[in-house]
Amino acid sequence: MGQQDFENIPYMLYADRKGRIYEHPYFRMAGFSGLQPMSLKEEDLIPMPQFSKLFFIPDCPPIGLDPSTGDYKVVPEVRVNGSRTKCSAVATFLEPGLVRGLLPAVDYSTKSYALPTWAYTAVGFKDDKYWAAGFRIEYNHRWDPRYYDDRELVTAIEAYQENHSGGALVEHLIQCATQNHCFAAKNLFLKRWEAPLPVSRGCNAGCLGCLSLQADPSCESSHQRITFTPTKEEIVSLAVRHLEQAPEAIMSFGQGCEGEPLTEYKRIAESIKEIRKKTNKGTLNLNTNGSWPERIREVARSGLDSIRISLNSARPEFYRAYCCPKDYDFEDVVSSISLSRDLELYTMINYLVFPGITDQEEEIAALSKLVRRTGVNFIHLKNLNIDPQLYMDRMPNTTSEAVGMKKMVRMLKKEFPDLELGYFNQAVR
Ligand code: SF4
Repeated sequence: MGQQDFENIPYMLYADRKGRIYEHPYFRMAGFSGLQPMSLKEEDLIPMPQFSKLFFIPDCPPIGLDPSTGDYKVVPEVRVNGSRTKCSAVATFLEPGLVRGLLPAVDYSTKSYALPTWAYTAVGFKDDKYWAAGFRIEYNHRWDPRYYDDRELVTAIEAYQENHSGGALVEHLIQCATQNHCFAAKNLFLKRWEAPLPVSRGCNAGCLGCLSLQADPSCESSHQRITFTPTKEEIVSLAVRHLEQAPEAIMSFGQGCEGEPLTEYKRIAESIKEIRKKTNKGTLNLNTNGSWPERIREVARSGLDSIRISLNSARPEFYRAYCCPKDYDFEDVVSSISLSRDLELYTMINYLVFPGITDQEEEIAALSKLVRRTGVNFIHLKNLNIDPQLYMDRMPNTTSEAVGMKKMVRMLKKEFPDLELGYFNQAVR
């Protein structure tokens, strides 16, 4: 790329020690694929959507592109009006429905802490706008932040409490809706779309990016894990009420504020049986790590409609390095996906994507093999929420070429025209 091309690339952003964000007067934005700096082309960029968040990464200088040479430069400080400012890197967290194309370009060499679990994305500034490295994979009004106005939520919770007997689960979900700002929990009180049914305290995995339990003390988990097992009665009354009243209703077991729901498969199965005796409406979904095929069989037989099974990679060694499975292995998860199809559940993979790993040729080949073998219906391309340096440190070494997230999607669509790619659970009833 000639100098003129670099001129079209947005300016690099940096933050001062108070977290105030500025565009650099000279350097252009760059991105990371894994921990490798990459320059951006205009087609890699989108205007940063309104409901995205901006972060600065303390004590970590940004890496910018020198438009006159095309070289990448660590920018520890900037001199503006004669005064020197120490620079910290800046990243964005994209609105739901968008796939991150590149990670922020950051010098992590002096970082001594683990970043909180967000999907950090490369961002720059040009023409009075922020530009992010990403692309839309699915638009779904049910998850559009513009439809979540907390001024409506407060009165909705009060009305819900007036009209319905409370209980521990409702109290927990009020916290989720008001403290964690969980859209699914808000939907319960706004009586629409997808609502949550968290049931499990324990888990048989140790995912590095777990939202409800973090091993590293420097990184607080973003959700408080549920501390009790809801009664069948409370699950059934809450679920039937929502399925009967809500448009495009989905009730989902397996939330960010709990462990692995299959640890409570008996409670889930008995509840589903009871729910389906009372209503045939809406979709009953299970978000799970897919570790117990036989427990999935029992839950499916009780009346489940759809299932979403999480994995960060279709390569067993990468899966083990991230999920740290305790008493199961990658093969159990693959068997669960195949079994779910055999049991005619609408079967989705919650594919936790990360530029530099997910778009490697080896990974794409492994994923294609998994899709062919299981016949999965839908793949969520979910940006993995994790400290990029921590993740790359823990993933196995590989020299497989990364082709770019957009190209990875094009290759999947070409090979599997009937496979649906998106970002959100689907209402299947
Ligand atoms: S399976 Fe879920 S609850 Fe268990 S460690 Fe992983 S993210 Fe956390």
